Amino acid sequence: LVERMRGFGETIFAEMSALAVRTGAINLGQGFPDEDGPRAMLDAAVEAVRSGANQYPPGPGLPELREAVAAQRLGRYGLSYDPATEVFVTVGATEGVAASMLALAEPGDEVVVFEPYYDSYAATIALAGAVRRPVTLRPDGGRFTFDPDELRAAVTSRTRVILVNSPHNPSGTVFTRAELESIAAVCREHDLIAVTDEVYEYLTFDDAEHVPLASLDGMRERTVSVSSAGKTFSVTGWKTGWVTAPAPLIRAVQTVKQFLTYAVSAPYQRAAAYALGNEVPWVEELRKSLQAKRDRLVTGLEAAGFAAYRPQGTYFVQADIRPLGFTDGMELVRELPGRAGVVAIPTQVFYDHPEAGAHFLRFAFCKRDDVIDEAVERLARLR
Ligand code: PMP
Ligand code: GLN
Repeated sequence: LVERMRGFGETIFAEMSALAVRTGAINLGQGFPDEDGPRAMLDAAVEAVRSGANQYPPGPGLPELREAVAAQRLGRYGLSYDPATEVFVTVGATEGVAASMLALAEPGDEVVVFEPYYDSYAATIALAGAVRRPVTLRPDGGRFTFDPDELRAAVTSRTRVILVNSPHNPSGTVFTRAELESIAAVCREHDLIAVTDEVYEYLTFDDAEHVPLASLDGMRERTVSVSSAGKTFSVTGWKTGWVTAPAPLIRAVQTVKQFLTYAVSAPYQRAAAYALGNEVPWVEELRKSLQAKRDRLVTGLEAAGFAAYRPQGTYFVQADIRPLGFTDGMELVRELPGRAGVVAIPTQVFYDHPEAGAHFLRFAFCKRDDVIDEAVERLARLR
């Protein structure tokens, strides 16, 4: 294994899902829903296979999906992208982020990223030979947020890219317009490129609203926005995503992407195009149902003795383990299947400074109500 990838073992999601299978524990670790997406969209994928969408699609993506993505960005956010030159399709958001890093960061360039960060970010920054500069999100007033001065201090003359994930996995924070403005100000001042991971764009709760960074003043021209079908339509196994950006940035990212995977599975592109055009009302029902599941899990975790943070978006709750007398989340997750028959994710693996997250576990609530109820009942045994 090349030196820059040493230190990246098996992903925590694979490790924890394997632990759940091995022990028969309830898996509130890896974030994937246990109910399927909209029926007509599933039928559209089957129909695409039956009707012959089975050979290589165009490298940049099927025109119908690129048009659907452009229409979605325009209709929902007022952001206008030319489907022919400013949209392209990737193997999930994961490839969109990876191709962006490989295309935009030179070896030695610095990439600012908010920790705790989604695990693929550190690896793809390392693959590019770039250096990550973490800005720590800390609990403040019931949500995780950053200090704008720490963000400013993280930027140096070597900084090239800032990677922004909102709604944020694993903290559940949805950045406010004010927080995004402070990020945008830094980008404009230091001429940075922003790469945004917006896979949870529809999954926001209460009055939280997802604001794309590209919609702020002076940001469209310097932002590569990434999203995917997985979370929005409950098809995390489809690995169908997309990138929107000004044409020169798209060309850069596309140059890399074409040699990683060339194209993306054709039937799922058709079905994702169908879903973007027709299933937004279904997504609104999903959002409402997830909000109720969030409350169900938070209430249950509190009853079990955790101090839980009620997230404004995503699938995930952060739970502080200290009220139960524990201090190390990594130790606790390894014991959790035996002691309580539940699997969670130790938040500390998403940090450069693990001590900042040592006492948090991440629990997923994209699960049937009876699964959540059974899990929190079992967790009550920890007291
Ligand atoms: N980004 C974030 C923040 C995620 O939580 C996930 C995981 N679902 C992904 C990217 C991966 O998305 P995809 O499956 O579309 O590659
Ligand atoms: N995004 C999912 C999570 O955060 C996991 C995706 C994966 O397994 N790579 O739980």
